[in-house]
Amino acid sequence: MAEWNPWHGCHKYSAGCANCYVYRRDAKYELDASAVRKNAAFDLPVRRARDGGYKLKGPDDVFTCFTSDFFLDAADPWRPEAWRMMRERADLNFFFITKRILRFREGLPEDWGEGYPNVSIGVTCENQAAADERLPFFLSLPVRRRLIIVEPMLEAVDLRPYLTPAVEQVVVGGESGETARLMRYEWALDIRRQCEASGVSLYFKQTGARFEKDGKVYRIPRRLQFSQARKSGLSCTGNAAAHLPSPGGKNRARRAGTRAPDRPPPERRRKRKRHAVERQRAC
Ligand code: SF4
Repeated sequence: MAEWNPWHGCHKYSAGCANCYVYRRDAKYELDASAVRKNAAFDLPVRRARDGGYKLKGPDDVFTCFTSDFFLDAADPWRPEAWRMMRERADLNFFFITKRILRFREGLPEDWGEGYPNVSIGVTCENQAAADERLPFFLSLPVRRRLIIVEPMLEAVDLRPYLTPAVEQVVVGGESGETARLMRYEWALDIRRQCEASGVSLYFKQTGARFEKDGKVYRIPRRLQFSQARKSGLSCTGNAAAHLPSPGGKNRARRAGTRAPDRPPPERRRKRKRHAVERQRAC
C-alpha cells in the first residue's frame, strides 16, 4: 500500500480530536500541529520517473491525507488540484478518512458525477451525536465507496439507521496514548450485532490503550492492541460490498487498513497494513 500525504496539520473539530495523534506526535518534536501546510510531496501521484512513467506505480491502494483532514477549510485552495491528481491516476485507489464530510462539496470537481470509482471515503463517527450529524449527509452523497469509522469509540453508537448496502464496511477501534479514553467490549459487540443484522462487514481494528471487558479495565500496550482485537473474533464479513463496484480488484479488501476479516493477509502484508492503519488515528 502506498501513502500520499498532500498536507499536514489540522484544527480540532469534535470530541474524537481531543487526543489527536497528529497533535501528540508533533508535540514530541515541539511542532505546532495547528499550522497547516502543503507538503513537499503534494504532487506525488503525478510525479514522473526518469523513464517517463509515474513514480508511484499502479495499481495500488493509496492511503491519503493521514496527518490532516481532507476537507479541512485551510486546505480549500489545494483540494481541487488533489482531486485532479486522483482523477488522472485512475489506476490508483485513493482512500481517506474525514470528520468533515459536511464540507464535501467545497472544491468538488465538476466532473465528479456519481463519484470517481477510484476514491473511497471513510467518515469518522466517534459518538452518537457525530453519527447522527454526519452519516445521513454522507449517505446522501454521490460516493462510490463508503466506510464508517467508529474510532476512537467513545460510547455505544447506534448505527442501524445508516447500515445500508451503500456502506462497505464499519471499522471500530479504541483510543491510543497515555491519556486514552476507555473503550468497552460491549460497545464493539453491539456494533457487531448491528452489522450482522444489516449484512455489513465489521473490522474491529484495535482495542485502544484502555479497554474494559466484564467489568475489568485493561491497560493494553500499543503492540498488542491490534492482536487483541483480532483475537476477540468480533470482526465479521458482510454482503454489502457485493453491491459496490470493485476498482481495486484483489487489493480492495485490504484498502487502507480495511480487510476481509475471514482472510487475514500474510505476515509481511499485515505489517505494512498495520503501519497504515496506525496513521488512520489521525482522523
Ligand atoms: S486530524 Fe482528525 S483527529 Fe486530528 S484534529 Fe484533525 S480532524 Fe481531529
